[in-house]
Amino acid sequence: MTAKLLDGKFLAQTLQGELALQAQQFQQERGLPPGLAAVLVGENPASQVYVRNKQKACEKSGFSSWLHQLPENSSQADLLGLISQLNHDPKVHGILVQLPLPKHLDTNLVLDAVAPGKDVDGFGPESLGLLASGRPRFLPCTPHGVLILLQRNYIPVAGKHVVVLGRSTIVGKPMGLILLQQGLDATVTTCHSRTENLASLTRQADILVAAIGKARFVTAGMVRPGAVVIDVGINRQEDGKLAGDVDFEEVKKVASAITPVPGGIGPMTIAMLLHNTLQAARLALSR
Ligand code: NDP
Repeated sequence: MTAKLLDGKFLAQTLQGELALQAQQFQQERGLPPGLAAVLVGENPASQVYVRNKQKACEKSGFSSWLHQLPENSSQADLLGLISQLNHDPKVHGILVQLPLPKHLDTNLVLDAVAPGKDVDGFGPESLGLLASGRPRFLPCTPHGVLILLQRNYIPVAGKHVVVLGRSTIVGKPMGLILLQQGLDATVTTCHSRTENLASLTRQADILVAAIGKARFVTAGMVRPGAVVIDVGINRQEDGKLAGDVDFEEVKKVASAITPVPGGIGPMTIAMLLHNTLQAARLALSR
């Protein structure tokens, strides 16, 4: 079997086209476009690329976007001051704080400071609490991108066994919470570095989502023939190329469908950020 390629890049472009039309309509009705402010602290090259890609996507879809770049040695007070200013700016509907922050800054304190109505990354305690209590507002962008990719490829999740590798707050944990929502109705197993007999669990998956940050960790022997494999991982290798968490060349021979890296979940994450920003803009103006 050779797996069907789940092309996240193409789908993300389609979604961004749809969002551009909705943003245009929003602007006509409300007199201003949806707006996203990105905050970048320090010089992390990967973060600079991610933020630039998010800004480009905003511009392409007719959203306003602002980049606030702070020096590496910025204090907690500087950063909290900027976030407070953005919280009160009516043109800014969404605030994105690019992670990771330099080590001397308290990430939780910073994420907690973003106004819940502008938390378009969906990492803040109110967004995650609402999701856990079955009343989601902003879904975290990466797991939301996984869901939309499955749905737009007509891959059913209801009643299916989804095994998620990774339990981070930004990918693994919310992935499980999203799929457990009433109406989506997946059966979810979440694995982590202390899980025993990992391969025996992954082999039970109808849908396997890998988000652990280890290049080519998931081998063909860990995948049930015919399973759908979603690779969230982005790992920079020594030669500078990107690799996912899945051994793509081997696993595509056993899976029924698989995402590539790059061109899979990465672009979907950006499309979902725009989706959340438009949603935040609508929410702000409906209040
Ligand atoms: P984290 O490092 O925060 O979490 C990794 C998770 O994987 C942890 O829960 C960890 O377990 C688990 N893990 C690590 N090693 C193993 C192992 N050998 N077996 C089972 N579980 C293991 O990473 P993130 O969730 O932030 O990111 C994961 C990957 O996804 C990275 O490659 C990242 O670059 C990528 N990513 C991609 C995005 C995109 O847009 N496509 C967006 C965000 C992330 P434990 O909790 O026990 O330590």
